[in-house]
Amino acid sequence: MAPENNLSGRNAGSGSVPLTLSEKCTKLANNLWWTWHPEVIDLFRSLDPSQWRHIEIEKEHEFSKKRFISHNPIALLSRIQPEELESRVSDLVLNTRIDQAYRRMQEYVNNTPAWAQRHVGVLGSKKVAYFSLEFGVHEAVPIYSGGLGVLAGDHIKSASDLGVPLVAIGLFYDQGYFTQELDIDGWQDQKYHKTRVDYLPLETVKNTAGSKLVKRTVKDGDADTLVVSIKTRSNTIHAKVRKMQVGRVELYLLDTDLEENSEEDRSLTSRLYGGDNRTRIRQEIVSGIGGVKALREIGIHPGVFHLNEGHNAFAALEAVRQMMEEDGKSFDDAVAEVAQHTVFTTHTPVPAGHDRFSSELIEEHLGQLRDELGISHHQLMSLGRVDPNNNDEPFCMTVLGLKLSRYANAVASLHGYVSRKMWHCLWPARQEDEVPIGHITNGVHVPSWMAWQMKTLFERNLQSGWSDEQMDEEAWAGVRKIDKGELWETHNALKTLLVSFVRRRLNRQCQRRGESMAVIDKTWNVLDPQVLTIGFGRRFATYKRATLLLSDIDRLDKLCNNPEKPVQFIFSGKAHPADNPGKEFIQMVANLRNDPRFANRFVFVEDYDINVCRHMVQGVDVWLNNPRRPLEASGTSGMKAVLNGALNLSILDGWWAEAYDGTNGFSIGHGTQNVDDAKTDARDAESLFETLENEVIPCFYKVDEHGLPGDWVEKMQNSISTLAWRFSANRMVSDYVTEAYLPAAGGCSCRMKH
Ligand SMILES: *Cc1c(COP(=O)(O)O)cnc(C)c1O
Repeated sequence: MAPENNLSGRNAGSGSVPLTLSEKCTKLANNLWWTWHPEVIDLFRSLDPSQWRHIEIEKEHEFSKKRFISHNPIALLSRIQPEELESRVSDLVLNTRIDQAYRRMQEYVNNTPAWAQRHVGVLGSKKVAYFSLEFGVHEAVPIYSGGLGVLAGDHIKSASDLGVPLVAIGLFYDQGYFTQELDIDGWQDQKYHKTRVDYLPLETVKNTAGSKLVKRTVKDGDADTLVVSIKTRSNTIHAKVRKMQVGRVELYLLDTDLEENSEEDRSLTSRLYGGDNRTRIRQEIVSGIGGVKALREIGIHPGVFHLNEGHNAFAALEAVRQMMEEDGKSFDDAVAEVAQHTVFTTHTPVPAGHDRFSSELIEEHLGQLRDELGISHHQLMSLGRVDPNNNDEPFCMTVLGLKLSRYANAVASLHGYVSRKMWHCLWPARQEDEVPIGHITNGVHVPSWMAWQMKTLFERNLQSGWSDEQMDEEAWAGVRKIDKGELWETHNALKTLLVSFVRRRLNRQCQRRGESMAVIDKTWNVLDPQVLTIGFGRRFATYKRATLLLSDIDRLDKLCNNPEKPVQFIFSGKAHPADNPGKEFIQMVANLRNDPRFANRFVFVEDYDINVCRHMVQGVDVWLNNPRRPLEASGTSGMKAVLNGALNLSILDGWWAEAYDGTNGFSIGHGTQNVDDAKTDARDAESLFETLENEVIPCFYKVDEHGLPGDWVEKMQNSISTLAWRFSANRMVSDYVTEAYLPAAGGCSCRMKH
């Protein structure tokens, strides 16, 4: 299916010249398929365990600190000469494992899975084009910031596993999101680093023969590079197209770092969510309009456009333009036709999460396109306004997305309800429950988030083919029959790994801040693997209330330092660079280390990313989530915790409102509080403490005659068997296929479920 990735310079597809082991390793490193195959990760690690974790790279300038790269196989292989590699491979007897891994990858990319043969129907000839401003595939590819990006990464991985014909489009940020460092006062500092592009599995897309583009006049580089151009009123922005292979899925990333661009535009795609509204709209025309142009040049004619969040809604306008140009349709007809093929997913009920642009920014950036569409400025603005005649209303990307799609969805059942209420204004003639926004609840990519120790345990205990059937309830039924002692031991082994990970990180943090030897040494003793461990990791947006527990510090002290039943906490997360209240929350949590009552019981791990998240969800006993209801659209980190046997302790918001059944975790409150209720925070804090004191802690420490917390492990089994299948990304993608992609591609006008 996927074309040969020809980075090692030799054609493997012909079969004539067998690849060397080193070439096979390079091929494995160049398809991000490896990121969800623990046996391949282990192979890379075995080649050089210390460099796998830590490769020191050059300082950027004289004053910059040392930098490290971890978990990056291309960087790793660049440090090992082919001869050295061959000798290491034979010393460690890795040949068979490399051969096997390479063969498995070849089989994977060259075969169509059984699920696809049964389910993709017309999509076989009409691909889905999935647009997202961020993609979180792996920590080594830093082009994501948080939940939205990781969801997009999980979506394309599951699309790959299921064999859904899908291509993904986004932007390439050569600095990504920021690296978080806390100073000695616990205040967040944002550091931006240039990514070593040569260590990423990127290809530059070439101009194909069929392309209508004239060969570009190049000032530097390769004349064959495909470049798309977007005209604004003030200038033209050019972008080249890079490509990454994610299993069977191609991920195209536009990059404006070209010499023919102005200085401003060269760095336009450097940083994710950096810059002001002007930067944002320019990024969004590159990803949306540029993305659709790029697909056409590459020769892909999508049958479905999936807009992951409003950021990319300009894509639909460019699709309208192309349809008018190619089929001679009128603007109105083309809009109706494009909407029929467009799926729009909204991700947040928080107002700041919806991009809004001024009339001037819209005219400057979309004016050229609207001339070609033959519509007035007022008509264009109307597409992004709730009230077309309100000239004070800015242009909202979510409104555009809703108006230009026939399939709109929220990301959890409760979020669907909230979104219908929120956007009722667009359909004033309808009842609220008739607003055409359905929901498809999010899910997570099981092989990416489940620890291999758990996976091994499940492989021994569940029916064969379990992993392929992971969206079926029956596939997980065997979890209840797993020996309780064995499940508990597996969990505890992972918890011990988490504790060592946290200690290593804290040690590094203290060293970087130049703290005293005494302080640095103490990091080797923080946390106790025997103690009930609660994790909280996510963006420090204030509505997520990271400091809710800190509202009664004496009660928290009693919990943490109860001699029989102590509790400890691991926190991690970034605040948006402009979010000072969020940074204050981080500071309050981080500075608990200066309070002797909490020094060993409350830690903050810097620089939350996929790697930190994976360690946390795989090792904690309890995953805490206490947002202000109903502002958490879905949340996905708790689903990752489920896969590893951690129990959720959460407000009944987002996915948890439909997941919790009384036996598979813990709830905070009764799901009735509302955000506009002034007493909400105090009441939720009270409920959080009560649930901890009366349910979570007693259950965890109640052991039977074998020293096993039987009731707890039973809850772990309930949690995995009732939730893992429902909240898997395979289930999510499968729902998108049947409820949105197939109808959108086939032109049927069925409605999405509410
Ligand atoms: C899964 C994930 C998130 C999402 O967490 P929520 O609890 O859903 O907000 C954010 N960041 C990273 C790095 C993740 O892996």
